[in-house]
Amino acid sequence: NKQIVLASRPEGAPSKENFEFVEASLPEPEAGQVLVRTLYLSVDPYMRGRMKDTKSYAPPYALNEVIKGGAIGQVVESSEPNLRKGDLVTGMWGWQQYAAVNTTDLSLIDSDEAPITAYLGALGLTGLTAYFGMEDIGKPKDGETVVVSGAAGAVGMIAGQIGKIVGARVVGIAGSDDKCTYLKEKLGFDVVLNYKTEQDMSAAIEKACPDGVDVYFDNVGGDISDAVLRHINRNARIPLCGQISSYNLEKPDIGMRPQTLLLTNTALMKGFLLGDYTKSFKEGRAKLAKWIQEGKLQYEENIVEGFERTPEAFIGLFSGDNLGKQLVKVADP
Ligand code: NDP
Repeated sequence: NKQIVLASRPEGAPSKENFEFVEASLPEPEAGQVLVRTLYLSVDPYMRGRMKDTKSYAPPYALNEVIKGGAIGQVVESSEPNLRKGDLVTGMWGWQQYAAVNTTDLSLIDSDEAPITAYLGALGLTGLTAYFGMEDIGKPKDGETVVVSGAAGAVGMIAGQIGKIVGARVVGIAGSDDKCTYLKEKLGFDVVLNYKTEQDMSAAIEKACPDGVDVYFDNVGGDISDAVLRHINRNARIPLCGQISSYNLEKPDIGMRPQTLLLTNTALMKGFLLGDYTKSFKEGRAKLAKWIQEGKLQYEENIVEGFERTPEAFIGLFSGDNLGKQLVKVADP
């Protein structure tokens, strides 16, 4: 049973040296637990925050302990009445090939509804994040302009498509020409900007949004957000989803102070955490699944093969290696 533990806390960008592979014995499930074999692992930007030894909404990872995160697995041993051997489940047992997990921490996956990997992406944490950020805070309307940063990522591509579903003009910001082409040609985004090659982001946003910005779904923060915020409209809504451009910074990012712009535009900027919406997950997942079935919502997964490539897949999030949800395939069902 191979496991990956946090060997040291990253300083700046995470590197392979921060992670260590250890060999553990096969865990024995206690009462209320089942033995699960990992099939897929999710790697997510928020995990970088848990690698710091600072207080946040999720507790820091302890050194030399298995890194916890989203996973899909198959029950291989169970004496619990509610889960049978062979059942496919999702939970947060993290970077290990086998785990003994409390049945109360597992959700059963219906593989007839969608491919199982969707439960870590479009129908899982990232799809739901896009859904609630848009539904509860962004509230885009027909004819409005929506800007999404991190637009080719797991959350961003769903958020942008939700904008399209309601009839908004959608402008995406992403880090490569290939990603921009995908968003425009496959997902129907109206304009897509490559922030790595755009000389003047503020001017580019102004040109891309002739009627200003009504909703800015922010996944990245930093200079990109400063540029977008300069163009918000009266009563703009800004779901503050993530700030990935700052996650590897050792010193706080000092940038534009947008208060005056928020004030004079009577705009709403609101941070949100997916964990606060757990009561509505069922409803959100049903809505996303319906859109997928109707062909209104598409998603992309970037799957690397092999448990040993998990750290590499995680590190790649910060250089934009992924189009859509980054996953690691550990084993076949
Ligand atoms: P993504 O799939 O979007 O992967 C990360 C992407 O971020 C990369 O592909 C890269 O794309 C982009 N990126 C990396 N570094 C930078 C940078 N310095 N500046 C701009 N873009 C950068 O990840 P997720 O969809 O899982 O997450 C997106 C955001 O949502 C994250 O900030 C995450 O923390 C947040 N989040 C928040 C939640 C909440 O509850 N509020 C829940 C889940 C996620 P590119 O090539 O375009 O640079």
